[in-house]
Amino acid sequence: MSFPAESKTDRPPIPTGGFKGCDLPPVVTDKPPRVLIAGAGLGGLFLGILLENSGIPYEIFERSAEIRPLGSIMCLSPNILPAFEQLGLLDELMSFSKPSRGGTMLTDKLKLVGKAIAAPTDLIGYDRILLARPELYTMLFSNIPKEKIRMSKKVLSFQQNHEGVMLRFSDNTTIHGDILVGADGAHSAVRQHLYKTLGKQGLLPDSDTKEMCKGYISLVGTTDALDPEKYPGVLEEDSESYFVVGDKNTPYTVGVAEVADEQFKSSDWIPQQNQKMMDSIRHFKTPYGTLGDLFDVTPIERVSKVGAGAVNAMQDAVLLANHLYDIYPTSFENIKRAFSSYKDERFDAIKDQYPQSYMSAKLIYGHTLSERIVRHVVFNWLPKGIQHRQFLKDTAYRPQANFLPQAPKRGSLEVIPQRPSIRIPKEEGETRELKKQGIVVPL
Ligand SMILES: Cc1cc2nc3c(=O)[nH]c(=O)nc-3n(C[C@H](O)[C@H](O)[C@H](O)COP(=O)(O)OP(=O)(O)OC[C@H]3O[C@@H](n4cnc5c(N)ncnc54)[C@H](O)[C@@H]3O)c2cc1C
Repeated sequence: MSFPAESKTDRPPIPTGGFKGCDLPPVVTDKPPRVLIAGAGLGGLFLGILLENSGIPYEIFERSAEIRPLGSIMCLSPNILPAFEQLGLLDELMSFSKPSRGGTMLTDKLKLVGKAIAAPTDLIGYDRILLARPELYTMLFSNIPKEKIRMSKKVLSFQQNHEGVMLRFSDNTTIHGDILVGADGAHSAVRQHLYKTLGKQGLLPDSDTKEMCKGYISLVGTTDALDPEKYPGVLEEDSESYFVVGDKNTPYTVGVAEVADEQFKSSDWIPQQNQKMMDSIRHFKTPYGTLGDLFDVTPIERVSKVGAGAVNAMQDAVLLANHLYDIYPTSFENIKRAFSSYKDERFDAIKDQYPQSYMSAKLIYGHTLSERIVRHVVFNWLPKGIQHRQFLKDTAYRPQANFLPQAPKRGSLEVIPQRPSIRIPKEEGETRELKKQGIVVPL
């Protein structure tokens, strides 16, 4: 049940010249829409893999010249693991991940604040897992045919009309497609350009004119292989995670406030700036020595400053791929309808998560007195039953690709049902009808 795969030979290359006017009637075609993806981050790559499996033609444009193994620890929850399983990537993912069945919260003097305990796997079906971002990135990157990822292609702007979209790059080239997906990160050029256009037309909602909430700055990196004598945890089957949180008198708070503006004006990968921040915090204690001990086994090129949000980016990709798959035949109206139903399906889930992730960030990283009191109450006094219920609620949302066989049901938890495809039952009905008439339908 997929569009015929497209090869380089059955379609001429996309023209790179100008952009046609919009006074022609809109094009309707039974070919699937050509999708242009800006940004080869985790979201863009995941969408690419999904489209690869759906037969929808796509290309990914990434501003960096090469892939860099950046980032550090990353947590993937049961909310996205069924989609990995559908794509046949779960076993490989698990080969470099470790289950995370809890976490320990300590003060900067290494005094216990509390412990978080995960819900049982037989109920949830999947473990929450911890992994190194570079390994996940490499796995996703290697699952996309090389010719579909174009490096050194920095998107500057785009134009769109009833016939499609034209992307303009910093090397003065352009490319045409039917749909553009901005997966170019927190400072998205696609979004900025769209907002500028909507602003000029007076269509930009007020809430989108506000400065982005900067939250907390994370300095992340991946160490070389650690010595098991000093870090016995590396030999364990489960992961061990510690959060060491300072108070407002510790340099954590000072450092964060100072670096915040610098970070948002600059690129993620400026080793000198990262080195400055690392030098100021290397004396911080960890259960295994100081942060400096970890910095000493971490090449500076592998350190970067970033936020989180991978699970959301990948869930976006799953649902977007479902709605792109439902576009048939390809026309301006059907593309508009697909985006509108994508928004209907996704918006409320994201809106619910926003206050929740704001609260969790405060709970995990907050330094003020009130944040520390709330943390103490939640980790020590909040009845386990309430924590458990919240955890079940959080893990019940698990979008899957409609156009692939569903992942087997794991765990006893009832998962929130998702919208079915509108295209698949229609095509199945047509196929049944043709078969009844004795017409053989090619697979
Ligand atoms: C280097 C890096 C390290 C990270 N490390 C961690 C981590 O350790 N832990 C964690 O939880 N999260 C980490 N994250 C965050 C997490 O990966 C993302 O927030 C999340 O995956 C959202 O993904 P995304 O695809 O929307 O955006 P991103 O992952 O930010 O990817 C955006 C991509 O778009 C590219 N891009 C930006 N502008 C343009 C443009 N104009 N034209 C073309 N391409 C463009 C960027 O180079 C990047 O490859 C990291 C992100 C990055 C970029």
